[in-house]
Amino acid sequence: MKLLELDKLSQKRLQALQKSGIASVKDLLMLFPRRYIDKSNIVPIALLANRTESVTVVGKVVNKNVTGFKQKKRLEVVIQDNTGSLKAVFFKGWKYFITQFSEGEWVALYGTAKRYGNYFSMAHPEVDKIKEPGEVQKYDTLIPIYPSNKHFSKAFISNPIIKDWISQILKNEPIPEFLPDKILSRHNFQNRADAFQSIHYPNSNEEAKNALERFKYEEFFLFELSMAKIKRTRIDRAAGKILVPGKLTSAFFNKILPFKLTEGQKHTLSDIKNDLQTGHQMNRLLQGDVGAGKTVVAIGAMLMAIDNGMQAALMAPTEILAEQHYQTIKTYTEQLGINFRLLTGGQSTSLRRDVLTDIEGGSCNIVVGTHAIFQEHVKFHNLGLAVIDEQHRFGVKQRNDVLMKGDNPHLLVMSATPIPRSLAMTIYSDLDISIIKELPAGRKPIKTAVRTDKEREKVYGFVEKSVRDGDQVYVVFPLIEESEVMDLKDATVGFDKLKRRFPEFTISLLHGRMKSEEKDKIMKRFSDGDTQILVSTTVIEVGVDVPNASIMIIEHAERFGLSQLHQLRGRIGRGSKQSYCILMPDVKLSKPGRFRLKKMVDTNDGFEIAEADLKLRGPGDFLGTKQSGLPDFRFADIVEDRFLLEQSKNEAWNIMETDPDLSYSEHKELKRVFEPYFLERSEFFGVG
Ligand code: ADP
Ligand code: MG
Repeated sequence: MKLLELDKLSQKRLQALQKSGIASVKDLLMLFPRRYIDKSNIVPIALLANRTESVTVVGKVVNKNVTGFKQKKRLEVVIQDNTGSLKAVFFKGWKYFITQFSEGEWVALYGTAKRYGNYFSMAHPEVDKIKEPGEVQKYDTLIPIYPSNKHFSKAFISNPIIKDWISQILKNEPIPEFLPDKILSRHNFQNRADAFQSIHYPNSNEEAKNALERFKYEEFFLFELSMAKIKRTRIDRAAGKILVPGKLTSAFFNKILPFKLTEGQKHTLSDIKNDLQTGHQMNRLLQGDVGAGKTVVAIGAMLMAIDNGMQAALMAPTEILAEQHYQTIKTYTEQLGINFRLLTGGQSTSLRRDVLTDIEGGSCNIVVGTHAIFQEHVKFHNLGLAVIDEQHRFGVKQRNDVLMKGDNPHLLVMSATPIPRSLAMTIYSDLDISIIKELPAGRKPIKTAVRTDKEREKVYGFVEKSVRDGDQVYVVFPLIEESEVMDLKDATVGFDKLKRRFPEFTISLLHGRMKSEEKDKIMKRFSDGDTQILVSTTVIEVGVDVPNASIMIIEHAERFGLSQLHQLRGRIGRGSKQSYCILMPDVKLSKPGRFRLKKMVDTNDGFEIAEADLKLRGPGDFLGTKQSGLPDFRFADIVEDRFLLEQSKNEAWNIMETDPDLSYSEHKELKRVFEPYFLERSEFFGVG
């Protein structure tokens, strides 16, 4: 069926639909009601007093007229039943509504009535024209209320019209089932046609809700099927190089590393070792809270690649972090005689050319850098392993870019966003997962406190004393993209104040607008202990590691999200000293602001904080939908519906395992739906 075959569908309305993203009758069917109303509650006009809920009033039109001027112009319609009269008032769209009323005819109005003096009035009720009052007795089902928008109102696409279109479609358009029978029966889902019926014309809210479950499931299922397909393709493609630990790896762990690995680190390394020996391409996610010690694991894995004559690459989301990793690798591996290079966007052309030559020629063993590493013109000699740090900043597409680089390198991605395991397993379901749960031994939990501006001098007194004792301090200012310049001013002014307050200390300012060499220098001086106080915008948020820094002051703390605060705080508490995080909010604290700060004071547990943040912000904001590599699900919510997500994952993966080409007859319809779905999103998934 075509949209234009529907009754009352003019060119103008067709355009309004198209502008709203509805291009076919199938799209229109997917326009689900926002809510349902129950019109069966019919009340005589005389009894309307004290009825605060929406009700139905049935009466004859006795009068209609347009009054008022400009903004106040409105249509007033008086109706009467045998107990009294009521005035219906329409401001918006009155030109349309005036056509809906004729004197002497019956109407049913649905809305909430208010008393004005001695008469009742209803603003913008739902209007049903009826032949006789008895008709409303048939109002036994819930009435769908559809979402509207400005295109709809301009084209007079009203709720009754949409309702009517939907019923025409449901009558005429065949709706085949594409979910396999097994799944339908396991979940007790209605078939697709019935589910549409239940969504648009439910007999109860319960029925609508059950039908909605099915559609949420569909969304998840197709997504998971895609993830499974992507993974499968990788497995098929990547007859992986077999990498085994050798001399460098064992020298690193046995001779160089100054501490014992934690259980989590050992586990993860053994997972990685197994992956590297299967002969398939590794796709592993390492999750571990800030400070869990993921870098060491990455270095170990990279050394395995080098032990086997391959190159390794480590990609970080920011230049500062890339530089820091570069320094760490240098400290640990300089004595191993391997060759490593830094590659970032901020480098001079001549240096860059030099680095690129080294990478292509193969003399460079480890490349550390920003996403610049995986740009097209970078050619590796033989890349065996790629590590992506702070994976939550990159999406599925970036993962795939890396995997396509050179000769199908193994992939390790690392994330400090401690999302619940079940959630991680579904949204990163193209990856295997290792988790480091514990922090290295000997760490003292960070103490966190909220202090107001009035207590600033006290805080500074504490800073003064600690710095004299050899501690180092971060002072962080928020950086909000829209007002970068102003925030920078905040940090600069704060920096000047601190210099005046602590003339005897060395204080530096670090911000994102600096050249990378400058940032590098400042960071290096801080980590060498030459600077005592580092004033910074959030550029230090991710990954930076200076174990001697044990105090962090966060200015305007209420402007940060919870997870971001936690990430920031993770910069301290990295040594054996007691660390302190001092949150300094602006005077006025909003309620959510206060909640966030309290949560920070109450717990150091990244998982608990992540859960709270998820609840506060919803998954889209939490993960940053664009960056999380997740599609925008239309009906489903990856947090609220995470059990459904998990089930859909298992079922999708089973199918991909047994019937990867969907060639079984029971998967015929599924294949018909899935192929275009996957193709349409190929760019998003990075497989185009
Ligand atoms: P993250 O997981 O946040 O990336 P890092 O890798 O930066 O954490 O490690 C944090 C700090 O802990 C570093 O200073 C690192 O040297 C140290 N570290 C890592 N593993 C251990 C360990 N097993 N024992 C003691 N210290 C460790
Ligand atoms: Mg890190």
